[in-house]
Amino acid sequence: MCSTIASKQSGVKQTTPAASKKPTKGVSLGSSPRVFPRPEYPPWTKAVWSLIYSNFYQAGVHGAVLCLILFPIYTACRSFAIKYEISNQVFFALLLSSAHTLPYTTNNFFYWLCDEFKWFQGYKLERKEYMKAKPALMTKMATEALIGQLVTGPIFAYLLYPAFVHFGMLDLDAPLPTFASMFKTFVVGYTFNDVGFYFTHRLFHSKLLYKRFHKQHHEFVGTVSFSAEYADPVEIIIANQIPTVGGVLFFACHPLSVSVWIMMRLQQTYEAHSGYCFENTLLAKVGILHPGSAVFHDHHHTSNMGNFGSFFLDWAFGTMDHYLSAGGYRGYIDKKKKGGV
Ligand SMILES: [Zn+2]
Ligand SMILES: [Zn+2]
Repeated sequence: MCSTIASKQSGVKQTTPAASKKPTKGVSLGSSPRVFPRPEYPPWTKAVWSLIYSNFYQAGVHGAVLCLILFPIYTACRSFAIKYEISNQVFFALLLSSAHTLPYTTNNFFYWLCDEFKWFQGYKLERKEYMKAKPALMTKMATEALIGQLVTGPIFAYLLYPAFVHFGMLDLDAPLPTFASMFKTFVVGYTFNDVGFYFTHRLFHSKLLYKRFHKQHHEFVGTVSFSAEYADPVEIIIANQIPTVGGVLFFACHPLSVSVWIMMRLQQTYEAHSGYCFENTLLAKVGILHPGSAVFHDHHHTSNMGNFGSFFLDWAFGTMDHYLSAGGYRGYIDKKKKGGV
């Protein structure tokens, strides 16, 4: 592991003794897909910068600022709940359910409008005919989403309340913590999710688990934002819900931070599955949108070879050979994006 990183950090090409000049795709797939000879990985400075930017700025700073903006709305909701004697557990379930339903409806509706009315097609990643989901798959996905939004999601949120209390979540009526404390909350939430999702997702790509659990999510070759949550229930709990919630559950924080973190995490995953890469837009420049993640995960679905998590961890563990061999971010966009924006 150390020597692998060292060779990447020095920017030296990684080759095998038997390496041929022409890259051979499809060798050793599953959870450790490789291309031989190994492509040159980006320098460590680029990988570390991507980690700092996404963890400290996009998660830490944005999360804390969003809490400051939303706190007046949160306190108004609390006053309403107290006035109408809504129990703390029900309030918390409503808070978490809203943090799920709100980004789900707004993000997915927006991307649906883009597809339906051909908005922003210059930012659309290519979808060949075989990549597009069949109506039966879309119906199955919509049915499961409806059950998740209206039944299992709220029940799950309701049952989670005692666990959050057990692990020291602040009182529902507690004042907002300091900016530094909230910053730490979002950095911890991001890190927990980043590590948890990478390893569990990679594990689900192993020969042992892929067919039984993860294949369902990959029925979408050319994803749409709705498909972000289309997965086997076991995968949803292990690879999605636990990594998403763990950082804010095990490391006590304010209830508003919990819901803001969930909203931010969901917004990113809907974008990653949307098939749109809004690079060079104002929202991307200020870090609200994530064109890098969108392209990175789009490659994961269209090729099904590597790119298991964030850029940094795939870099560190050498699991983006195919992505780099295809030209990385720029190469993928130039090949897949309509109109070459
Ligand atoms: Zn996968
Ligand atoms: Zn996916």
